[in-house]
Amino acid sequence: MTLGDAELDRYARHIVLPQVGGVGQRRLKASKVAIVGAGGIGSAVIPALAAAGVGSLTIIDPDVVELSNLQRQSMFRERDAGYSKADLALQFVQRLNHFVDAHPVQQRIGAENAAHLLQGQDLVIDGSDNFATRLAVSDACVGLGVSLISAAAAQFQGQVGLFRASPCYRCFVGDAFDTDDCDNCSELGVLGAVTATVGSFAALLAINALVGIGDDQAGRLHLFDGENLSWRTIRIPADPSCRTCASA
Ligand SMILES: [Zn+2]
Repeated sequence: MTLGDAELDRYARHIVLPQVGGVGQRRLKASKVAIVGAGGIGSAVIPALAAAGVGSLTIIDPDVVELSNLQRQSMFRERDAGYSKADLALQFVQRLNHFVDAHPVQQRIGAENAAHLLQGQDLVIDGSDNFATRLAVSDACVGLGVSLISAAAAQFQGQVGLFRASPCYRCFVGDAFDTDDCDNCSELGVLGAVTATVGSFAALLAINALVGIGDDQAGRLHLFDGENLSWRTIRIPADPSCRTCASA
């Protein structure tokens, strides 16, 4: 995986960083990342990873743009209402960085198709809006041996965690939510700048993990308080009876 002259120019502010350099930039180019959900969090993650030069982005979202999305989903414009988010995200990436291969998937991801849709990825970033999807994505990632960044925001609160093997996301939330999607932001509300903050943090976590920058963040959950403007970090203990990762 080499970088041409146009890429060396484009990524010059990355390459000059000792933590990244040409080696790190080539790692980003060689990376395949799937993003589940092109919503508020996806609208921060997808532009950041495309601009950073992650070589392959698979964007999974079954929905079309609604006017009520525009308050936080900054990839989309008024005239996009009614069109597929996955396809619009593809167009966004193509306009931003033609060195990135983007793959739109206009499907709802669930337990029945998650392993198929996510196989072959180096990293999955889940910015979906309900527990049932997040648990199905997490179970598939554990089964495939793929690292998962799970990011969520509601009201003024956000959380971002990196999970690899064990502990997994199910260790954190348990089994009670597999059929529950009542936590979505249409009911609770969410401030657009909070989803953007959480999504940008998830993108940074992804880049650090792909390049190998900083401490290994697996098993740590980062919690954002958007009212008092602070982050704190907790460790997620592995659940010895977790039905997904305890036997893995
Ligand atoms: Zn687990």
